[in-house]
Amino acid sequence: MPALKDYWPLVMEDLKGRLSASNFKAWFSLVDFAEIQESGRKLVISVPSDFHKKYIDSKFRKEIFASVVKYYPQVIHVGYKIVKPAETKNQEIQQALSLEPLSDDSFEKQPIDNASEPEPISSYLPKKSLNNLNPKYTFENFVVTRNNELAANVAMAVVEDMGKLYNPLFIHSKVGLGKTHLLEAIGNKTVEKRPTFNVKYIPAETFINQWIMSLQRKETDKFRDYYNSIDLLLIDDIQFFTGKESTQEIFFHIFNYLHQNNKQIVLTSDKPPQELIGIPERLVSRFNSGMVVDITKPELEDRLSILQDKIARMQLIIDDKKVFKIAEKISTNVRDLEGVLNKIQARIKLMPHLDFDDRDLDSILSSYCNHEPTLDEPIKGLNPEAVLQAICRIFSIQKQDIIGNSREKNVALARQIAFWFYKHELDLSYPVIGRLFGGRNHTTVMHGHNKIEELLKTNPKIKDKVMMAKKMLAGS
Ligand code: ADP
Ligand code: MG
Repeated sequence: MPALKDYWPLVMEDLKGRLSASNFKAWFSLVDFAEIQESGRKLVISVPSDFHKKYIDSKFRKEIFASVVKYYPQVIHVGYKIVKPAETKNQEIQQALSLEPLSDDSFEKQPIDNASEPEPISSYLPKKSLNNLNPKYTFENFVVTRNNELAANVAMAVVEDMGKLYNPLFIHSKVGLGKTHLLEAIGNKTVEKRPTFNVKYIPAETFINQWIMSLQRKETDKFRDYYNSIDLLLIDDIQFFTGKESTQEIFFHIFNYLHQNNKQIVLTSDKPPQELIGIPERLVSRFNSGMVVDITKPELEDRLSILQDKIARMQLIIDDKKVFKIAEKISTNVRDLEGVLNKIQARIKLMPHLDFDDRDLDSILSSYCNHEPTLDEPIKGLNPEAVLQAICRIFSIQKQDIIGNSREKNVALARQIAFWFYKHELDLSYPVIGRLFGGRNHTTVMHGHNKIEELLKTNPKIKDKVMMAKKMLAGS
Protein backbone atom coordinates (compact mmCIF):
# COMPACT_ATOMS: atom_id res chain seq x y z
CA MET A 1 0.00 0.00 0.00
CA PRO A 2 1.51 3.33 -0.91
CA ALA A 3 1.49 5.90 1.88
CA LEU A 4 -0.85 8.84 1.44
CA LYS A 5 2.09 11.17 0.95
CA ASP A 6 3.30 9.12 -2.03
CA TYR A 7 0.62 10.57 -4.25
CA TRP A 8 1.83 14.09 -3.62
CA PRO A 9 4.46 14.16 -6.42
CA LEU A 10 1.69 13.19 -8.84
CA VAL A 11 -0.40 16.12 -7.63
CA MET A 12 2.56 18.42 -8.18
CA GLU A 13 3.13 17.02 -11.65
CA ASP A 14 -0.51 17.56 -12.50
CA LEU A 15 -0.48 21.08 -11.11
CA LYS A 16 2.60 21.89 -13.14
CA GLY A 17 0.60 21.18 -16.25
CA ARG A 18 -2.12 23.62 -15.19
CA LEU A 19 0.10 26.61 -14.47
CA SER A 20 2.73 28.53 -16.38
CA ALA A 21 6.27 27.31 -15.76
CA SER A 22 7.24 30.57 -14.07
CA ASN A 23 4.22 30.62 -11.77
CA PHE A 24 4.76 27.03 -10.81
CA LYS A 25 8.42 27.57 -10.04
CA ALA A 26 7.85 30.78 -8.16
CA TRP A 27 4.97 29.66 -5.99
CA PHE A 28 5.19 25.90 -5.62
CA SER A 29 8.88 25.13 -5.16
CA LEU A 30 8.45 25.34 -1.40
CA VAL A 31 5.01 23.82 -1.14
CA ASP A 32 4.77 20.30 0.25
CA PHE A 33 2.37 17.71 1.57
CA ALA A 34 1.81 18.16 5.31
CA GLU A 35 -0.97 15.84 6.46
CA ILE A 36 -4.42 14.46 5.92
CA GLN A 37 -7.10 15.43 8.42
CA GLU A 38 -10.80 14.87 9.02
CA SER A 39 -10.67 11.18 8.04
CA GLY A 40 -9.28 11.94 4.65
CA ARG A 41 -11.57 14.82 3.79
CA LYS A 42 -9.04 17.56 4.27
CA LEU A 43 -5.56 17.73 2.81
CA VAL A 44 -3.15 20.13 4.46
CA ILE A 45 -0.21 21.47 2.53
CA SER A 46 2.77 23.28 3.93
CA VAL A 47 3.67 26.72 2.62
CA PRO A 48 6.65 28.90 3.54
CA SER A 49 4.78 32.01 4.68
CA ASP A 50 1.44 33.56 5.33
CA PHE A 51 1.94 35.68 2.24
CA HIS A 52 2.43 32.53 0.16
CA LYS A 53 -0.66 30.99 1.63
CA LYS A 54 -2.80 34.01 0.83
CA TYR A 55 -1.35 34.42 -2.61
CA ILE A 56 -1.66 30.86 -3.82
CA ASP A 57 -5.04 30.45 -2.20
CA SER A 58 -6.41 33.48 -3.99
CA LYS A 59 -4.72 32.86 -7.33
CA PHE A 60 -4.53 29.11 -7.74
CA ARG A 61 -7.14 27.62 -5.44
CA LYS A 62 -9.13 26.10 -8.27
CA GLU A 63 -6.09 24.54 -9.90
CA ILE A 64 -4.73 23.18 -6.61
CA PHE A 65 -8.06 21.62 -5.77
CA ALA A 66 -8.43 20.08 -9.22
CA SER A 67 -5.00 18.46 -8.98
CA VAL A 68 -5.54 17.28 -5.42
CA VAL A 69 -8.87 15.56 -6.03
CA LYS A 70 -7.42 13.77 -9.00
CA TYR A 71 -5.21 11.75 -6.68
CA TYR A 72 -7.04 12.18 -3.38
CA PRO A 73 -10.64 11.77 -4.53
CA GLN A 74 -12.02 11.76 -0.99
CA VAL A 75 -10.68 15.23 -0.21
CA ILE A 76 -13.25 18.00 -0.11
CA HIS A 77 -11.10 20.87 1.05
CA VAL A 78 -7.52 21.94 1.21
CA GLY A 79 -5.86 23.62 4.19
CA TYR A 80 -2.52 25.30 4.73
CA LYS A 81 0.16 25.09 7.34
CA ILE A 82 3.04 27.52 7.50
CA VAL A 83 6.45 25.88 7.67
CA LYS A 84 9.40 28.24 7.45
CA PRO A 85 11.93 26.94 4.92
CA ALA A 86 15.69 26.71 5.30
CA GLU A 87 17.42 29.93 4.26
CA THR A 88 19.05 28.70 1.04
CA LYS A 89 15.93 27.37 -0.53
CA ASN A 90 14.16 30.55 0.35
CA GLN A 91 16.67 32.53 -1.67
CA GLU A 92 16.15 30.28 -4.64
CA ILE A 93 12.49 30.97 -4.69
CA GLN A 94 12.89 34.70 -4.40
CA GLN A 95 15.09 34.51 -7.42
CA ALA A 96 12.66 32.42 -9.37
CA LEU A 97 10.00 34.93 -8.55
CA SER A 98 11.95 37.83 -9.91
CA LEU A 99 13.94 36.46 -12.78
CA GLU A 100 11.28 34.58 -14.61
CA PRO A 101 9.06 36.90 -16.56
CA LEU A 102 5.49 35.86 -15.92
CA SER A 103 4.71 35.71 -19.60
CA ASP A 104 4.26 32.62 -21.66
CA ASP A 105 7.04 33.60 -24.02
CA SER A 106 9.75 31.92 -22.05
CA PHE A 107 13.16 31.55 -23.56
CA GLU A 108 16.66 30.57 -22.63
CA LYS A 109 18.20 33.53 -20.93
CA GLN A 110 21.89 33.93 -21.36
CA PRO A 111 23.36 35.17 -18.14
CA ILE A 112 26.42 37.19 -18.85
CA ASP A 113 29.29 35.44 -17.22
CA ASN A 114 31.10 38.29 -15.64
CA ALA A 115 33.00 37.21 -12.58
CA SER A 116 33.96 40.75 -11.66
CA GLU A 117 30.40 42.00 -11.49
CA PRO A 118 29.30 42.83 -7.97
CA GLU A 119 26.58 40.77 -6.37
CA PRO A 120 23.04 41.72 -7.31
CA ILE A 121 21.73 44.29 -4.87
CA SER A 122 18.84 42.05 -4.01
CA SER A 123 18.07 38.50 -4.95
CA TYR A 124 14.75 39.39 -6.56
CA LEU A 125 16.22 42.14 -8.72
CA PRO A 126 18.22 40.72 -11.63
CA LYS A 127 21.84 41.74 -12.05
CA LYS A 128 22.45 44.95 -13.93
CA SER A 129 23.96 43.10 -16.86
CA LEU A 130 20.85 40.97 -17.32
CA ASN A 131 18.68 42.99 -19.60
CA ASN A 132 16.10 40.20 -19.84
CA LEU A 133 15.78 40.65 -23.60
CA ASN A 134 14.84 37.84 -25.92
CA PRO A 135 17.33 38.06 -28.81
CA LYS A 136 14.83 36.56 -31.24
CA TYR A 137 12.85 39.80 -31.43
CA THR A 138 14.62 42.19 -33.79
CA PHE A 139 13.74 44.96 -36.23
CA GLU A 140 15.27 42.83 -38.97
CA ASN A 141 12.67 40.10 -38.64
CA PHE A 142 9.73 42.42 -37.96
CA VAL A 143 7.68 42.69 -41.12
CA VAL A 144 6.54 46.26 -41.62
CA THR A 145 3.02 46.41 -43.01
CA ARG A 146 0.46 49.19 -43.23
CA ASN A 147 -1.10 48.29 -39.91
CA ASN A 148 2.13 48.57 -37.92
CA GLU A 149 4.12 51.02 -40.00
CA LEU A 150 3.82 53.99 -37.70
CA ALA A 151 4.62 51.96 -34.59
CA ALA A 152 7.65 50.37 -36.27
CA ASN A 153 8.98 53.70 -37.54
CA VAL A 154 8.55 55.43 -34.21
CA ALA A 155 10.24 52.49 -32.47
CA MET A 156 13.22 52.81 -34.78
CA ALA A 157 13.33 56.56 -34.28
CA VAL A 158 13.42 56.09 -30.51
CA VAL A 159 16.63 54.07 -30.82
CA GLU A 160 18.19 56.87 -32.85
CA ASP A 161 17.21 59.68 -30.55
CA MET A 162 16.77 58.23 -27.13
CA GLY A 163 15.02 60.01 -24.30
CA LYS A 164 14.08 63.16 -26.16
CA LEU A 165 11.92 62.64 -29.19
CA TYR A 166 9.14 60.31 -28.12
CA ASN A 167 9.22 59.88 -24.39
CA PRO A 168 7.43 57.86 -23.26
CA LEU A 169 6.56 55.78 -26.26
CA PHE A 170 3.30 53.95 -25.61
CA ILE A 171 2.43 51.10 -28.00
CA HIS A 172 -0.97 49.49 -27.78
CA SER A 173 -2.84 46.79 -29.67
CA LYS A 174 -4.87 43.66 -29.27
CA VAL A 175 -3.01 40.47 -28.48
CA GLY A 176 -0.55 38.87 -30.90
CA LEU A 177 0.07 41.89 -33.09
CA GLY A 178 3.73 42.53 -32.30
CA LYS A 179 3.90 44.79 -29.23
CA THR A 180 6.36 42.63 -27.35
CA HIS A 181 8.32 42.05 -30.53
CA LEU A 182 8.74 45.79 -31.17
CA LEU A 183 9.45 46.57 -27.53
CA GLU A 184 12.24 44.03 -27.37
CA ALA A 185 13.54 45.03 -30.80
CA ILE A 186 14.08 48.53 -29.39
CA GLY A 187 16.05 46.96 -26.54
CA ASN A 188 18.10 44.63 -28.72
CA LYS A 189 19.04 47.39 -31.17
CA THR A 190 20.01 49.70 -28.32
CA VAL A 191 22.22 47.06 -26.71
CA GLU A 192 23.88 46.56 -30.09
CA LYS A 193 24.48 50.27 -30.68
CA ARG A 194 25.19 51.37 -27.13
CA PRO A 195 26.68 48.47 -25.21
CA THR A 196 27.22 50.53 -22.07
CA PHE A 197 23.55 51.49 -21.75
CA ASN A 198 21.62 50.02 -18.86
CA VAL A 199 18.66 48.46 -20.70
CA LYS A 200 15.91 46.56 -18.91
CA TYR A 201 12.95 44.67 -20.33
CA ILE A 202 10.39 43.82 -17.72
CA PRO A 203 6.88 42.37 -17.96
CA ALA A 204 4.57 44.48 -15.79
CA GLU A 205 3.65 41.42 -13.73
CA THR A 206 7.28 40.82 -12.81
CA PHE A 207 7.66 44.47 -11.87
CA ILE A 208 4.67 44.11 -9.55
CA ASN A 209 6.10 40.97 -7.96
CA GLN A 210 9.48 42.57 -7.42
CA TRP A 211 7.82 45.55 -5.81
CA ILE A 212 5.88 43.28 -3.46
CA MET A 213 9.09 41.52 -2.48
CA SER A 214 10.82 44.81 -1.82
CA LEU A 215 7.93 45.96 0.35
CA GLN A 216 8.02 42.75 2.34
CA ARG A 217 11.72 43.09 2.91
CA LYS A 218 11.52 46.80 3.58
CA GLU A 219 13.90 47.49 0.73
CA THR A 220 11.87 49.98 -1.21
CA ASP A 221 14.81 52.39 -1.51
CA LYS A 222 16.86 49.69 -3.19
CA PHE A 223 14.05 49.00 -5.57
CA ARG A 224 13.75 52.64 -6.48
CA ASP A 225 17.52 53.10 -6.91
CA TYR A 226 17.64 50.04 -9.10
CA TYR A 227 15.03 51.36 -11.50
CA ASN A 228 16.24 54.95 -11.32
CA SER A 229 19.60 53.85 -12.71
CA ILE A 230 18.13 52.50 -15.95
CA ASP A 231 18.78 54.25 -19.28
CA LEU A 232 16.12 52.45 -21.29
CA LEU A 233 13.16 50.99 -19.43
CA LEU A 234 10.85 48.69 -21.39
CA ILE A 235 7.70 47.63 -19.54
CA ASP A 236 5.45 45.13 -21.25
CA ASP A 237 1.69 44.87 -20.70
CA ILE A 238 1.26 47.85 -18.42
CA GLN A 239 -2.47 47.10 -18.23
CA PHE A 240 -1.56 44.73 -15.39
CA PHE A 241 -0.93 47.80 -13.22
CA THR A 242 -4.69 48.23 -13.12
CA GLY A 243 -5.87 48.47 -9.54
CA LYS A 244 -2.35 47.96 -8.16
CA GLU A 245 -2.19 51.23 -6.29
CA SER A 246 1.09 50.90 -4.52
CA THR A 247 2.84 49.71 -7.69
CA GLN A 248 1.34 52.67 -9.52
CA GLU A 249 2.68 55.00 -6.87
CA ILE A 250 6.28 53.79 -7.05
CA PHE A 251 6.13 53.59 -10.81
CA PHE A 252 4.93 57.19 -10.94
CA HIS A 253 8.04 58.30 -9.05
CA ILE A 254 10.38 56.19 -11.16
CA PHE A 255 8.72 57.42 -14.31
CA ASN A 256 9.15 61.07 -13.33
CA TYR A 257 12.75 60.58 -12.31
CA LEU A 258 13.73 58.83 -15.52
CA HIS A 259 11.77 61.24 -17.65
CA GLN A 260 13.35 64.30 -16.04
CA ASN A 261 16.75 62.81 -16.67
CA ASN A 262 15.99 62.14 -20.33
CA LYS A 263 16.01 58.40 -19.92
CA GLN A 264 13.83 56.59 -22.40
CA ILE A 265 10.66 54.76 -21.33
CA VAL A 266 8.66 52.50 -23.61
CA LEU A 267 5.42 50.89 -22.52
CA THR A 268 3.00 48.49 -24.12
CA SER A 269 -0.62 47.85 -23.30
CA ASP A 270 -3.65 46.09 -24.67
CA LYS A 271 -5.58 49.37 -24.63
CA PRO A 272 -4.90 53.06 -25.22
CA PRO A 273 -4.07 55.01 -22.02
CA GLN A 274 -7.49 56.60 -21.55
CA GLU A 275 -9.21 53.21 -21.62
CA LEU A 276 -7.10 51.76 -18.82
CA ILE A 277 -9.70 51.41 -16.10
CA GLY A 278 -8.16 51.49 -12.64
CA ILE A 279 -5.10 53.52 -13.60
CA PRO A 280 -5.15 57.00 -12.06
CA GLU A 281 -5.44 60.08 -14.20
CA ARG A 282 -1.98 61.38 -13.34
CA LEU A 283 -0.41 58.24 -14.82
CA VAL A 284 -2.72 58.20 -17.82
CA SER A 285 -1.70 61.77 -18.60
CA ARG A 286 1.99 60.79 -18.31
CA PHE A 287 1.37 57.93 -20.73
CA ASN A 288 -0.26 60.34 -23.15
CA SER A 289 2.46 62.96 -22.83
CA GLY A 290 4.88 61.37 -25.28
CA MET A 291 3.89 59.37 -28.31
CA VAL A 292 0.99 56.93 -28.41
CA VAL A 293 0.86 54.54 -31.36
CA ASP A 294 -1.32 51.57 -32.05
CA ILE A 295 -0.97 48.45 -34.15
CA THR A 296 -4.15 47.40 -35.87
CA LYS A 297 -5.12 44.05 -37.32
CA PRO A 298 -3.33 43.21 -40.57
CA GLU A 299 -5.43 43.23 -43.74
CA LEU A 300 -5.31 40.35 -46.20
CA GLU A 301 -2.43 41.86 -48.14
CA ASP A 302 -0.44 42.47 -44.95
CA ARG A 303 -1.07 38.94 -43.78
CA LEU A 304 0.25 37.65 -47.09
CA SER A 305 3.49 39.58 -46.73
CA ILE A 306 3.96 38.42 -43.15
CA LEU A 307 3.35 34.81 -44.18
CA GLN A 308 5.74 35.05 -47.11
CA ASP A 309 8.48 36.49 -44.96
CA LYS A 310 8.05 33.84 -42.28
CA ILE A 311 7.83 30.98 -44.78
CA ALA A 312 11.13 32.09 -46.31
CA ARG A 313 12.80 32.33 -42.91
CA MET A 314 11.53 28.90 -41.90
CA GLN A 315 12.66 27.52 -45.26
CA LEU A 316 9.27 25.97 -45.84
CA ILE A 317 7.91 25.17 -49.25
CA ILE A 318 4.20 25.92 -49.46
CA ASP A 319 2.47 26.67 -52.75
CA ASP A 320 0.89 30.10 -53.28
CA LYS A 321 -2.67 28.83 -53.25
CA LYS A 322 -2.23 27.40 -49.77
CA VAL A 323 -0.50 30.55 -48.53
CA PHE A 324 -3.43 32.59 -49.80
CA LYS A 325 -5.87 30.30 -48.08
CA ILE A 326 -4.07 30.71 -44.75
CA ALA A 327 -4.04 34.49 -45.13
CA GLU A 328 -7.72 34.46 -45.94
CA LYS A 329 -8.79 32.24 -43.07
CA ILE A 330 -6.56 33.56 -40.29
CA SER A 331 -7.52 37.16 -39.78
CA THR A 332 -7.00 37.38 -36.04
CA ASN A 333 -3.35 38.16 -35.44
CA VAL A 334 0.26 37.38 -36.29
CA ARG A 335 0.62 34.90 -33.46
CA ASP A 336 -2.04 32.71 -35.07
CA LEU A 337 -0.38 33.03 -38.49
CA GLU A 338 2.84 31.82 -36.89
CA GLY A 339 0.95 29.04 -35.14
CA VAL A 340 -0.34 27.69 -38.44
CA LEU A 341 3.14 27.75 -39.98
CA ASN A 342 4.60 25.97 -36.96
CA LYS A 343 1.98 23.26 -37.26
CA ILE A 344 2.68 22.84 -40.95
CA GLN A 345 6.38 22.61 -40.26
CA ALA A 346 5.82 19.97 -37.58
CA ARG A 347 3.53 17.98 -39.85
CA ILE A 348 6.08 18.00 -42.68
CA LYS A 349 8.87 17.00 -40.32
CA LEU A 350 6.92 14.20 -38.71
CA MET A 351 5.65 12.72 -41.97
CA PRO A 352 8.17 13.71 -44.64
CA HIS A 353 7.13 10.87 -46.92
CA LEU A 354 3.52 12.08 -47.16
CA ASP A 355 2.39 14.99 -49.27
CA PHE A 356 1.04 18.01 -47.40
CA ASP A 357 -2.28 18.39 -49.18
CA ASP A 358 -5.38 20.58 -48.93
CA ARG A 359 -7.04 18.27 -46.46
CA ASP A 360 -4.06 18.54 -44.11
CA LEU A 361 -4.19 22.30 -44.36
CA ASP A 362 -7.94 22.36 -43.72
CA SER A 363 -7.59 20.29 -40.62
CA ILE A 364 -4.94 22.65 -39.27
CA LEU A 365 -7.02 25.70 -40.13
CA SER A 366 -10.18 24.28 -38.62
CA SER A 367 -8.79 24.68 -35.11
CA TYR A 368 -8.44 28.41 -35.73
CA CYS A 369 -12.03 29.39 -36.34
CA ASN A 370 -12.67 32.81 -34.93
CA HIS A 371 -13.93 32.53 -31.35
CA GLU A 372 -13.75 36.22 -30.46
CA PRO A 373 -17.20 37.20 -29.25
CA THR A 374 -18.70 40.39 -30.63
CA LEU A 375 -20.96 42.84 -28.85
CA ASP A 376 -23.98 42.16 -31.02
CA GLU A 377 -23.85 38.43 -31.32
CA PRO A 378 -25.31 36.64 -28.29
CA ILE A 379 -23.28 33.78 -26.82
CA LYS A 380 -24.93 30.42 -27.21
CA GLY A 381 -25.94 28.25 -24.24
CA LEU A 382 -25.68 30.92 -21.55
CA ASN A 383 -27.50 30.65 -18.25
CA PRO A 384 -28.49 33.44 -15.83
CA GLU A 385 -26.31 32.12 -13.02
CA ALA A 386 -23.14 32.18 -15.13
CA VAL A 387 -23.89 35.74 -16.23
CA LEU A 388 -24.29 36.91 -12.65
CA GLN A 389 -21.10 35.19 -11.59
CA ALA A 390 -19.09 36.78 -14.39
CA ILE A 391 -20.42 40.26 -13.65
CA CYS A 392 -19.83 39.88 -9.91
CA ARG A 393 -16.25 38.84 -10.57
CA ILE A 394 -15.58 41.74 -12.88
CA PHE A 395 -17.00 44.26 -10.41
CA SER A 396 -15.63 42.45 -7.33
CA ILE A 397 -19.03 42.32 -5.67
CA GLN A 398 -21.28 39.62 -4.20
CA LYS A 399 -24.37 38.12 -5.77
CA GLN A 400 -26.56 39.34 -2.91
CA ASP A 401 -25.40 42.93 -3.57
CA ILE A 402 -26.57 42.83 -7.13
CA ILE A 403 -29.91 41.16 -6.34
CA GLY A 404 -30.41 43.34 -3.27
CA ASN A 405 -31.07 47.01 -2.81
CA SER A 406 -27.63 48.55 -2.69
CA ARG A 407 -27.50 51.91 -4.44
CA GLU A 408 -23.74 52.08 -4.44
CA LYS A 409 -22.57 53.32 -7.83
CA ASN A 410 -20.47 50.28 -8.64
CA VAL A 411 -23.24 47.86 -7.67
CA ALA A 412 -25.94 49.82 -9.49
CA LEU A 413 -23.88 49.81 -12.66
CA ALA A 414 -23.17 46.09 -12.37
CA ARG A 415 -26.89 45.48 -11.91
CA GLN A 416 -27.77 47.45 -15.02
CA ILE A 417 -25.18 45.55 -17.01
CA ALA A 418 -26.75 42.36 -15.70
CA PHE A 419 -30.16 43.60 -16.96
CA TRP A 420 -28.60 44.22 -20.34
CA PHE A 421 -27.19 40.70 -20.46
CA TYR A 422 -30.47 39.12 -19.36
CA LYS A 423 -32.32 40.97 -22.09
CA HIS A 424 -29.78 40.96 -24.88
CA GLU A 425 -28.09 37.61 -24.36
CA LEU A 426 -30.75 35.53 -22.60
CA ASP A 427 -33.72 37.11 -24.34
CA LEU A 428 -35.82 37.37 -21.17
CA SER A 429 -38.68 39.84 -20.85
CA TYR A 430 -38.42 42.93 -18.61
CA PRO A 431 -41.01 41.64 -16.10
CA VAL A 432 -39.24 38.27 -15.80
CA ILE A 433 -35.90 39.97 -15.28
CA GLY A 434 -37.51 42.21 -12.66
CA ARG A 435 -38.72 39.14 -10.80
CA LEU A 436 -35.29 37.48 -10.93
CA PHE A 437 -33.77 40.62 -9.46
CA GLY A 438 -35.68 40.67 -6.20
CA GLY A 439 -39.06 41.69 -7.58
CA ARG A 440 -38.10 44.91 -9.32
CA ASN A 441 -40.51 46.83 -11.47
CA HIS A 442 -40.22 46.13 -15.21
CA THR A 443 -39.75 49.82 -15.98
CA THR A 444 -36.67 49.91 -13.74
CA VAL A 445 -35.22 47.02 -15.70
CA MET A 446 -36.04 48.62 -19.01
CA HIS A 447 -34.51 51.91 -17.96
CA GLY A 448 -31.31 50.15 -16.84
CA HIS A 449 -31.09 48.12 -20.02
CA ASN A 450 -31.58 51.18 -22.23
CA LYS A 451 -29.02 53.14 -20.31
CA ILE A 452 -26.38 50.46 -20.92
CA GLU A 453 -27.39 50.22 -24.56
CA GLU A 454 -26.70 53.98 -24.86
CA LEU A 455 -23.44 53.86 -22.89
CA LEU A 456 -22.15 51.05 -25.09
CA LYS A 457 -22.16 53.52 -27.96
CA THR A 458 -20.46 56.35 -26.14
CA ASN A 459 -18.42 55.04 -23.22
CA PRO A 460 -15.45 52.78 -23.98
CA LYS A 461 -15.02 51.86 -20.30
CA ILE A 462 -18.51 50.39 -20.14
CA LYS A 463 -18.02 48.60 -23.42
CA ASP A 464 -14.82 47.18 -22.05
CA LYS A 465 -16.56 45.77 -18.99
CA VAL A 466 -19.32 44.22 -21.08
CA MET A 467 -16.81 42.70 -23.49
CA MET A 468 -14.79 41.41 -20.57
CA ALA A 469 -17.88 39.61 -19.29
CA LYS A 470 -18.65 38.28 -22.77
CA LYS A 471 -15.15 36.92 -23.17
CA MET A 472 -15.29 35.33 -19.77
CA LEU A 473 -18.64 33.73 -20.60
CA ALA A 474 -17.51 32.63 -24.04
CA GLY A 475 -14.53 30.97 -22.37
CA SER A 476 -11.97 32.90 -24.36
P1 ADP B 1 1.76 41.05 -28.57
O1 ADP B 1 2.86 41.40 -27.62
O2 ADP B 1 1.17 42.23 -29.25
O3 ADP B 1 0.72 40.16 -27.99
P2 ADP B 1 3.87 39.62 -29.89
O4 ADP B 1 4.89 40.69 -30.04
O5 ADP B 1 4.11 38.61 -28.84
O6 ADP B 1 2.42 40.22 -29.75
O7 ADP B 1 3.70 38.90 -31.32
C1 ADP B 1 3.19 37.59 -31.45
C2 ADP B 1 4.05 36.82 -32.40
O8 ADP B 1 3.92 37.35 -33.69
C3 ADP B 1 5.53 36.92 -32.04
O9 ADP B 1 6.14 35.68 -32.26
C4 ADP B 1 6.07 37.96 -33.00
O10 ADP B 1 7.40 37.71 -33.35
C5 ADP B 1 5.16 37.79 -34.20
N1 ADP B 1 4.93 39.06 -34.90
C6 ADP B 1 4.01 40.00 -34.61
N2 ADP B 1 4.05 40.99 -35.52
C7 ADP B 1 5.01 40.67 -36.39
C8 ADP B 1 5.54 41.31 -37.55
N3 ADP B 1 5.05 42.47 -37.99
N4 ADP B 1 6.54 40.69 -38.20
C9 ADP B 1 7.02 39.53 -37.77
N5 ADP B 1 6.58 38.88 -36.71
C10 ADP B 1 5.59 39.43 -36.00
MG1 MG C 1 3.03 40.83 -25.59
